[in-house]
Amino acid sequence: MFQGLSEKLQETFKRLKGKGKLKEADVSEAMREVRVALLEADVNFKVVKDFVAKVKERSIGQEVLESLSPAQHVIKIVHEEMIELMGGATGKILIASKPPTVIMLIGLQGAGKTTHAAKLANMLKKQGKHPLLVACDIYRPAAIKQLQVLGDQLKVPVFSMGQDNPRDIAKASIVHANQNGQDVVIIDTAGRLHINEELMGELRDIKSSVKPHEILLVVDAMTGQDAVNVAESFHSDLGLDGVILTKLDGDTRGGAALSIKAVTGCTIKFVGIGEKMDAIEPFHPDRMASRILGMGDVLTLIEKAQESFDEKKAKEMEQKLRKQEFTLDDFLDQMQQMKKMGPLSSILEMIPGVGKQLKDVQIDEKDTAHIEAIIRSMTTEERRKPVLIKDSRKKRIAKGSGTSVQDVGRLLKQFEQMQKMMKQFSGGGMGMLGGGKKG
Ligand code: GDP
Repeated sequence: MFQGLSEKLQETFKRLKGKGKLKEADVSEAMREVRVALLEADVNFKVVKDFVAKVKERSIGQEVLESLSPAQHVIKIVHEEMIELMGGATGKILIASKPPTVIMLIGLQGAGKTTHAAKLANMLKKQGKHPLLVACDIYRPAAIKQLQVLGDQLKVPVFSMGQDNPRDIAKASIVHANQNGQDVVIIDTAGRLHINEELMGELRDIKSSVKPHEILLVVDAMTGQDAVNVAESFHSDLGLDGVILTKLDGDTRGGAALSIKAVTGCTIKFVGIGEKMDAIEPFHPDRMASRILGMGDVLTLIEKAQESFDEKKAKEMEQKLRKQEFTLDDFLDQMQQMKKMGPLSSILEMIPGVGKQLKDVQIDEKDTAHIEAIIRSMTTEERRKPVLIKDSRKKRIAKGSGTSVQDVGRLLKQFEQMQKMMKQFSGGGMGMLGGGKKG
């Protein structure tokens, strides 16, 4: 995410770091580079202009804190101004005092409405709510089906009335929710390829019939400034309560994320970072700014770990590590817990200093599938005592898992090294990722 911008800014600051005391000319030169980097990232030109002017003014005008070098001082200001630029988001759905809370998702076709209606339902369900998904995209029969498939997968009920009038469907869904104890209603509406009066009319109709607590616009981050223009139009016509910025996983530039709030006044509440149902995150401007500036995003990482890790299991694992009873079965278990946190590459990106190195590293998710297959092809005894696995067993395991004898050998070697390492660290009491404890 945002790799291009992130690299350029870090290069600029690296050059600043080499300087002892900053002169006005140094700051001006750095700001010129920041300006180019932001424009190349497709940030709105007026936003860039104001941003650079502010940073420059604060960098030169202010006393440098004693604990910081002048260069660190500039980075700190850029960081703060970036937060300000994207600021104000809560990353939360405001739950209505009298249920059901009604959320209406709107946006152009293909932005990710249906996917994010389901992701939101999944997220709210995990928080103990009872969501109802409502299919109001009546023009594409496939959209209703898509929502039903996702609903089935997540075990979230889906309300549909086929091709009926969207306004009537929305209204009926509230009655249905009230009768069935569903406390959040998420309405998936129809999009169009472009904004037009027909679309706006239909959305206004639904809005006035159900009076949603939250109207959230779903926009595709990869469309850059187009996303910002779309947000502006929808906001002035319908009044938005927030934005869900999708496909951030594929956005190397970051223009939409950095411009939407400043241009439209509308805050980004959530971001979509993949096609899977758990690939949604609350938007935190401070964490995003840290990620862009290569400072990592440890807080999100910790939250993800807490969500995905089973506290009891983590304790058990810790005990096993202490007693050096960690087996290949446990290894498999930890791998599966890690997988729940999302794609490995997006996890590593959040670790300070790692993001930049990552660009040359190809992380093959298939590798983890191989490891899983290899361990699954072992007998229980072999998993507990890998020393038993000599040549003939290796052959059998390779065959069973569709890998090679070398692959099996490599995994055993890695596991052996890991055990050695754990011996050294035992007493530290950490699982692979800190056992889901609060950081
Ligand atoms: P809709 O027309 O607005 O309802 O859009 P869909 O929900 O059908 O999404 C369009 C496509 O974008 C689908 O193939 C989704 O899987 C994909 N998609 C949605 N959100 C994300 C995201 O955050 N990241 C990625 N990589 N793909 C996404």
